[in-house]
Amino acid sequence: MAKAGSCLCEAISFDVEGPLRNVLHCHCVNCRKSSGSYVASSGCPTDKLTINDPDEQLRWYDLGYCRYGFCATCGSRMFWQGAEHMDHTSIQAGVLDDASGLTLEGIWFADDAQPHVDLNTDVPHHTGNGSETP
Ligand SMILES: [Zn+2]
Ligand SMILES: [Zn+2]
Repeated sequence: MAKAGSCLCEAISFDVEGPLRNVLHCHCVNCRKSSGSYVASSGCPTDKLTINDPDEQLRWYDLGYCRYGFCATCGSRMFWQGAEHMDHTSIQAGVLDDASGLTLEGIWFADDAQPHVDLNTDVPHHTGNGSETP
């Protein structure tokens, strides 16, 4: 099942070979501030992700232990990679053209969610994250 997506201005598009990870929501402050909201992310093995960026608009905001990939033209936050888990790339669910079949599998940093967020769901809530952050 190949899935594809793009940033808002479509300067950057991508293809994924094989299945996407189900969606995690993350309410950590880094995800909030980098996205402007909380984050809903899917993901895939990095070697299954093909990024099409003919005008070299993809930028990485690097915090050392992780980095956020975004479009320099339109600002869409698209990708996340952890320095110790570069074999996996998180993909923001919102930049997928077709997210059908993906379900919510967990909520990270639930304690940090802003008060307007409805966390009333049966999926597991975590106070932190697992081995990686979306
Ligand atoms: Zn763009
Ligand atoms: Zn986060």
